[in-house]
Amino acid sequence: MSMVDLVVRSRRTVLPEGERPAAVAVSEGVIVAVEAYDSYLDAAEDVDLGDDALLPGLVDTHVHVNEPGRTEWEGFATATRAAAAGGITTIIDMPLNSLPPTVDADALRVKRAAASGQCHIDVGFWGGAVPGNHGELPALHDAGVFGFKAFLADSGVPEFPPVDAGQLALAMSTVDARFVVHAEDPYHLHDAAPSRAYSDFLASRPPDAEDAAVATAIDAARAANARVHILHLSSATALPLIAAARREGVRVTAETCPHYLTLHAEDVPAGATEFKCCPPIRERANADQLWAALADGLITCVVSDHSPCTPELKRQDTGDFAAAWGGIASVQLGLPVIWTAARDRDFPLADVVAWMARRPADLVGLGRKGRLAVGADADLVAFDPRGTFTVDPHRLHHRNPVTPYAGKTLTGVVRSTWLRGRPVTGEVAAGRFLQREV
Ligand SMILES: [Zn+2]
Repeated sequence: MSMVDLVVRSRRTVLPEGERPAAVAVSEGVIVAVEAYDSYLDAAEDVDLGDDALLPGLVDTHVHVNEPGRTEWEGFATATRAAAAGGITTIIDMPLNSLPPTVDADALRVKRAAASGQCHIDVGFWGGAVPGNHGELPALHDAGVFGFKAFLADSGVPEFPPVDAGQLALAMSTVDARFVVHAEDPYHLHDAAPSRAYSDFLASRPPDAEDAAVATAIDAARAANARVHILHLSSATALPLIAAARREGVRVTAETCPHYLTLHAEDVPAGATEFKCCPPIRERANADQLWAALADGLITCVVSDHSPCTPELKRQDTGDFAAAWGGIASVQLGLPVIWTAARDRDFPLADVVAWMARRPADLVGLGRKGRLAVGADADLVAFDPRGTFTVDPHRLHHRNPVTPYAGKTLTGVVRSTWLRGRPVTGEVAAGRFLQREV
């Protein structure tokens, strides 16, 4: 082989088939060879990670950046810098909480213009399906979004209203696209009274709200022969519905998030609104069932649902769960949070990489992302799987220093991140916009 730009070696290289010692060779931002760890390779730069692991850059298909319009909640520069520091090299941005919401091709142009020059990693975009915009969906799809998000219950922002079952079915029959659904059914949700008790908030969003909405999403996908993906599944009670639909041939998949797997309702302190998200964090026994579903492949992806806001909107002054914005902000911490818990449960690092890199990439049809393989983009992460650190919110790069993981000691430290063969420094914003490929 002629001289390559970069070789990165590790005794713990996580390849699609599993972990082994290997050397990854990169030219012009693309992986051109995967060789034995101690192979001679003529390279402009040769990095040996030794016993630190070499992972593909993670792919986070569920991030709310909020720019333009609510940039004080989060923006592209801060979100992508935080993601890169957490080992993520691709995000797909959600269509809501920014203004305008990404519900037509003009709004996508506005968002791309706002993000331009600010992204430290590669960024793609979801579109949104809201009541009455089905006519806009084909043009928005052609403009490159990866699919469409819909809510079945109130989204939290007035400009992104929910669809009902008929409107979801209409959208699905209008365009052959991926649909990703926030699955809570409004008829099973209750108004929460002002309270600092987490149990009051939890009781307002019971498991049957998720079960009913998952059933609605599955019915719509079955009727339209569409692809549907259940976002941020919290309640394990919906798992049998998804399993049954898959056996029947319905194209339904599901993701969950680090907070549903590792945080537990029993442990949420009074007034700790940084734990509020929708659907809610549930009990420990429920989380055990989500882990079992990851193990057997029924849940395919673990993504952040990074959904920040200002400390004021989190009502950190009063600790009122009813009034606080619902959303967890911790995009930078997903890998160590999941690795810390996965290790305790005897999952190998290769499983974590499948959940957080390869399968999310596959969900959105990005065959060049999320894997260390010849022909893939050289998005690389040096990860110390034994190092530990204690979470200090002020050392995270996302805009507002709010996180439910504050003070926790986690195992697994991201040492460095490369985007298409170049180190992500936090200075040069070399991220590109990604377009849907298939
Ligand atoms: Zn979300």
